[in-house]
Amino acid sequence: MQTIQNFINGQYVPPKAGKYIDNFNPATGNLSGKIPDSDIEDIEAAVRAATAAFPVWANMPLDHRHDILCSVADGILQNLDTLAEAESSDSGKTVTTARTVDIPRAAQNFKFFATALLHFASESHHAPGSLSYTLRQPLGVVGCISPWNLPLYLFTWKIAPALAAGNCVVGKPSEVTPLTAYLLGNLCNAAGLPPGVLNIVQGLGPKAGEAIVRHPKIKAISFTGSTRAGSEIARIAAPIFKKLSLELGGKNPNLIFADCDYDKMLETTVRSSFNNQGQICLCGSRIYVEKSIYPRFKKDFLERVKNLKVGNPSDPNNNLGAVVSKMHFEKVLGCIELAKEEGGQILAGGSAIQMPAPFDNGWYIAPTVIEGLSAECRTNQEEIFGPVVTIQPFDTDEQALEMANSTDYGLSATVWTNNLQRSQFLAANLQAGIVWVNTWMLRDLRTPFGGVKNSGIGREGGWDAMRFFTEAKNVTFG
Ligand code: NAD
Repeated sequence: MQTIQNFINGQYVPPKAGKYIDNFNPATGNLSGKIPDSDIEDIEAAVRAATAAFPVWANMPLDHRHDILCSVADGILQNLDTLAEAESSDSGKTVTTARTVDIPRAAQNFKFFATALLHFASESHHAPGSLSYTLRQPLGVVGCISPWNLPLYLFTWKIAPALAAGNCVVGKPSEVTPLTAYLLGNLCNAAGLPPGVLNIVQGLGPKAGEAIVRHPKIKAISFTGSTRAGSEIARIAAPIFKKLSLELGGKNPNLIFADCDYDKMLETTVRSSFNNQGQICLCGSRIYVEKSIYPRFKKDFLERVKNLKVGNPSDPNNNLGAVVSKMHFEKVLGCIELAKEEGGQILAGGSAIQMPAPFDNGWYIAPTVIEGLSAECRTNQEEIFGPVVTIQPFDTDEQALEMANSTDYGLSATVWTNNLQRSQFLAANLQAGIVWVNTWMLRDLRTPFGGVKNSGIGREGGWDAMRFFTEAKNVTFG
């Protein structure tokens, strides 16, 4: 049992009210520790520390700021195993996923934005008789709020550009996965990050999270999480004109055409369906397949899915670990029941898996494939965010496009075809912020990342992130 603390002004401190909440290990279902149940007083202390640190950080020579952020990246990689195990024990993801995806990517986020700050430039506009230039100044203190599915990966995806642009941060990781953010504090101290530049406050969304959103001295909120919480944050932030970036839920379509590279498609579709127990906002949960290859795809896909191994996240032979929490476990199982009520046929999975001790109280769900549902039913409209996909045939490109665009979400879409015209037509007409053609989750950190419709507003990544975390001021000389 481990009791963790907040990281404020470069020090680990208990929550002011002395209250804690339970943290569980999804692999065993056992209590693993306590985390601060922070409130407005803790946020107040974090904002005070961040405000005091801002002038030093904002005015630090760029190469010095770059070096510190690179040292944080190095510290993350030097502690790869510890961080990967912490990530797995908090989230139920396999240690392999945490070791090869989450933690290296967290380091890369720091390295990428450390470099970006050296190259970030602003515009100037010349005209006869005038010269204008744009100052891009850091905002001051900003809030970064992140979810549980890729804990350190997404926390650092916000913090790194915020710091690179010269801001000080009050960050809150998910209350379900607090550990790696907690460990990050020490790594920042070791890297020489001045106290108060990054403050990490643990706690619940509607309490600590909302206090960050409401705080008048916090100038911007970068949020990743559910559409429900995003909408609540937007409601609070709009009347106080707070800058917002909202990366929200998804219900991503995967369009598979007969002319695709079949083997690559099949292997990737298994990953895009069930990687991280299907708990990646970019997972393709609605699989639409051209009718002529539907029977072949169904047979091959099911064969692969049934071979996936679920169990102890520390065992490198397992492909899937546990889902993140009891609440989420019950939600996903409820979605499977709903799919059955809607007339869906369960082709694979469809239930929880009972593991042997010591994992017998863990939250494991078999990778589930459902057939026979319409594009309009709730199962195909609402985000499940677990190891559950539906498969459905289509006849024409237009039909595939219509089905793909039929939800209120618009985060990402995947297209499998070797027909250039078709891929370009679909890329232009799919209602999504990200379209992958013949690949999935291939990320270039310079590209804009974000969704349309109920999947959010704003873009992260590259210059978009640096622009979000700065205010543009125009200066004109006559
Ligand atoms: P969540 O919305 O419940 O929580 C996300 C974070 O927001 C947590 O830190 C939580 O404590 C905090 N929070 C919750 N309510 C809040 C409030 N009223 N005010 C301030 N903060 C609040 O989401 P989750 O269950 O942790 O994560 C899963 C969701 O995140 C899914 O919907 C998934 O699609 C989405 N997600 C989106 C992306 C993306 O890039 N678009 C990436 C990953 C996850």
